Amino acid sequence: MAERTAHRHRVVIVGAGFGGLFAAKALKNADVDITLINGTAYHLFQPLLYQVATGILSEGEIAPPIREIVRKQDNIDVKLGWVTDVDVEAKKVKVTAPSIEYEVGYDTLIVGAGASQSYFGNDHFADHAPGMKSIDDALELRARIFGAFELADLQQDPADQERWMTFVVVGAGPTGVEMAGQIAELAHRNLAGQYKHIDPRKARVILIDAVDAVLKTFGDRLSTHALRQLHLLGVEVELETKVVDVDATGIEVETKRGHERIESMTKMWAAGVAAPPLARKLAEAAGAQTDRAGRIMVEPDCTLPGHPEIFAVGDMMSLDRLPGVAQVAIQSGRFAADQIKRRLKGKETGQKFQYFDKGSMATVSRFNAVASIGKIHLSGFIGWLMWLAVHLLYLVGFKNRFTAVVHWFVSFFGRGRSERVSTFQQSYARIATREYGDPFERRRVEEAEAAAAAEKEAAAEKAVAGTTPSGTTVQASSASTASPAGGTGAAAAAAKGGTPAKAKAAGRR
Ligand SMILES: Cc1cc2nc3c(=O)[nH]c(=O)nc-3n(C[C@H](O)[C@H](O)[C@H](O)COP(=O)(O)OP(=O)(O)OC[C@H]3O[C@@H](n4cnc5c(N)ncnc54)[C@H](O)[C@@H]3O)c2cc1C
Repeated sequence: MAERTAHRHRVVIVGAGFGGLFAAKALKNADVDITLINGTAYHLFQPLLYQVATGILSEGEIAPPIREIVRKQDNIDVKLGWVTDVDVEAKKVKVTAPSIEYEVGYDTLIVGAGASQSYFGNDHFADHAPGMKSIDDALELRARIFGAFELADLQQDPADQERWMTFVVVGAGPTGVEMAGQIAELAHRNLAGQYKHIDPRKARVILIDAVDAVLKTFGDRLSTHALRQLHLLGVEVELETKVVDVDATGIEVETKRGHERIESMTKMWAAGVAAPPLARKLAEAAGAQTDRAGRIMVEPDCTLPGHPEIFAVGDMMSLDRLPGVAQVAIQSGRFAADQIKRRLKGKETGQKFQYFDKGSMATVSRFNAVASIGKIHLSGFIGWLMWLAVHLLYLVGFKNRFTAVVHWFVSFFGRGRSERVSTFQQSYARIATREYGDPFERRRVEEAEAAAAAEKEAAAEKAVAGTTPSGTTVQASSASTASPAGGTGAAAAAAKGGTPAKAKAAGRR
């Protein structure tokens, strides 16, 4: 109790997405110490990821460093790391970052860890059809898309050429429509005339969804407009079509016509979201329920049942069937901050979170977007101007806004795509990392195993030396060479004054 009064009220915020970041900013003048923990050092503006993937924007333009955003806020400590668990009794979060693990205590916890890609139980699809959730995803897709044209240019066999020039996007929501539209523009407009052996205008872009309309949540009028626009761009739209398998060279689908295979080297997944693993862990720890997507079912004031000190905000909360959009995250983050400020001032709390729907929008192509704001439905150029204004407003930082406008000018008025750089590592790093494992995690496990083995060996030697004649000691020592972690070598290194880790590293070299 003495410890609780010795410090200012501690607010730990997990996630610097829209929910977490706007909560932190709303607590700027509050009498609290904030620790903002995020898995990356930057805030990611996810709605523009597709523009990074298609070479319009650079990753830096949509991912400003968190430290820079909050540099004028004195009451905040930004920490890198993934929160892996929450001890709701001890009020601590457990965090892991490359080569280090740590804990942070809280008085109030705000969790805004967003959402992950869902392959509806077919996670192996991810190898051949990356999702669109992170900078890594966008750069991998950029490498695959631009790489596909380069490789198509090298093919002698027309079938191989066609396979490299066929792009399949799964999911006809805003992200899928935006991706398909941009790949079509890229192929049919921006890249035209740049290759000697292929005509990029002949590239096929296929948009697939199991439902019967594109942008279904935007209503019939805007959905029809978007479909017409996609057709004008040359996108082949396959609705009521279910993906049943994805492999390196193609995709298997069930259509109204029956089972079909589409030969394609470049596939991408924009079809589903699920709550991140932390949501399940937190729900279990706090005794809360989750919905079908794994999101935490919160009280009307965004707190977890029985835990008024824990808020879940944004994409990972389930409340009133609110959609997973930026405005829900921003408003719920600010609401949680406001509740904390009220509590600290002794004011009444527990009010219901009221979401103000500011509408939704999606671009189909340059100068063409659909926007649904209450009863107002806009499409075409006016919709696009609206899209431009809103995205500029929420893109964090002057520098980012300025350079984004320059790049939009280059891509939409001219024919350039300024950000076409990609590397082989970007294409293959995800699969390689999965196969090889996280190097930091591997080293941590190896070190822990070596230390445990050395400790066990030292204890055994001590016990034997103290109780038996020396001949038995030799036996006990040699028995320990069977340790799977190579305990003897590590122990020997430790005995010589070196650490087990150094011995391991020396062994690897
Ligand atoms: C491609 C794409 C396009 C979109 N387009 C639109 C759009 O046009 N309009 C719109 O309104 N919405 C759009 N959305 C949805 C919108 O981006 C999300 O609703 C919004 O980002 C949710 O905010 P959040 O704070 O809940 O989560 P996020 O913004 O996802 O942030 C979560 C943060 O938590 C961090 N994190 C996750 N797990 C942990 C952990 N265990 N420990 C520490 N940190 C963690 C992540 O690194 C991330 O920074 C789009 C989403 C995507 C993926």
